[in-house]
Amino acid sequence: MKKEEDFSEWYGAAIEKAELRDKRYPVKGMDVWMPYGWALMKLIDHAWREEFDATHHSEVNFPLLIPESEFKKESEHVKGFESDVYWVTHGGLNLLDIRLVLRPTSETAMYPMYALWIRSHADLPLKLYQIVSTFRYETKMTRTFLRVREIHFFESHTAHATFEDAEQQIQEDLQINERLMRRFCLPYIVSRRPEWDKFPGADYSLGVDTLLPSGRTLQLATFHEYRENFSKVFGITFEDADGSRKFVHQTTDGMSERIVGAIIAVHGDEKGLVLPPEVAPIQAVIVPILEKGRQDEITSAARELHQALQPALRVHLDDRDLRPGEKFYHWEAKGVPLRVELGPRDLDKKEVVVVRRDNGHKQSLATLGLANRLKSILEFMQVDLFARAEQAMKENITAIASVDDARDAINRMGWCGRQECGLAVTERTGMSVLGTPYYKEPVSGMCAVCKEPAKEMLYAAKAY
Ligand SMILES: [Zn+2]
Repeated sequence: MKKEEDFSEWYGAAIEKAELRDKRYPVKGMDVWMPYGWALMKLIDHAWREEFDATHHSEVNFPLLIPESEFKKESEHVKGFESDVYWVTHGGLNLLDIRLVLRPTSETAMYPMYALWIRSHADLPLKLYQIVSTFRYETKMTRTFLRVREIHFFESHTAHATFEDAEQQIQEDLQINERLMRRFCLPYIVSRRPEWDKFPGADYSLGVDTLLPSGRTLQLATFHEYRENFSKVFGITFEDADGSRKFVHQTTDGMSERIVGAIIAVHGDEKGLVLPPEVAPIQAVIVPILEKGRQDEITSAARELHQALQPALRVHLDDRDLRPGEKFYHWEAKGVPLRVELGPRDLDKKEVVVVRRDNGHKQSLATLGLANRLKSILEFMQVDLFARAEQAMKENITAIASVDDARDAINRMGWCGRQECGLAVTERTGMSVLGTPYYKEPVSGMCAVCKEPAKEMLYAAKAY
């Protein structure tokens, strides 16, 4: 099945065939993580941890339940979430005095504690993150990884002495994001979300979006500058060097399991998944090609090869009693980057046949020094996957003069800067306004709605 023809069906089938999640669990929007899917998610978690640990963030784990009294403190925030949170109303048979909310995000869980922990300027910056489940009562149709009710979620929450320090944090988040998206082979654009669509409680929000083959964009990450909006509500203050009490400035950075959905959608093909080597649970699979009379010889050579490669990469030996063709199909569906075939002729020549999952390229390589050769092929694949996806995204950023010309792609247009024109884009096309480009672009032409001179460029697309 080709993904360009019926993306939804292709996407669901690819996940099922690769055995990532099982959606037969009897709660809508909560799919079971199967071993291979969870192994993939854990490698993404690992990348998150590496990048945030390296930039002096510390990992924490806050409780899942948030008291209603804390949840309702910041009025904008509550308004943004109240219609799609789950409530815990009972403890056993007793109605609770104070209802509890299943965290939809953790500002209101963390910040009462920040108020206790932060005392003086010496405690700043405070940079914490956690990787936990968050919950949203989605009323729209749910879709594995893309729109779910239990979300595997990354969130960092920082507190700073000054607005400038908080702005510096946003810069660091953008750099971390660039490194992460390279590791996930996901091209993206960064937009400053419009005022009417920023995160509830934020001063401003930046969104990182990629483009899926369906022509829709998918938000991969968001960064929020809170200024003192939350610290004033939760009383998070510090004593400055001059003895005065000040409110901290805060930021957040959020990502989710949507990264997995994006990887599947952006790189997959008619055979199934194509995983970037960095996050592939199995980077190379060895498939012995047995010949009558030489089974034992080939099997033991395959085992030796498996052992020899193991320290260098995530390698799996498929020694099941199945035909090679069935095994090829199985591992292709799972997106394993490299297949290493070992047959009688290869064995005689002390070689193996290596096949790349992304482009089908086949080559014979000597067994001696194979680990290093495979590692270098994986590095090339990593670069190629990103480059191909970036090219495809760029080709689908289209400049339009009038909002009526909008296509199923990322539409770039002039904008007078007025909210009514921004809202009209959504009303007339059904597209979401992604916002204005964070990395400034030359402004030209007229507003795509009112035809007055453009003050900014605006991006819009159908979004998940
Ligand atoms: Zn206008």
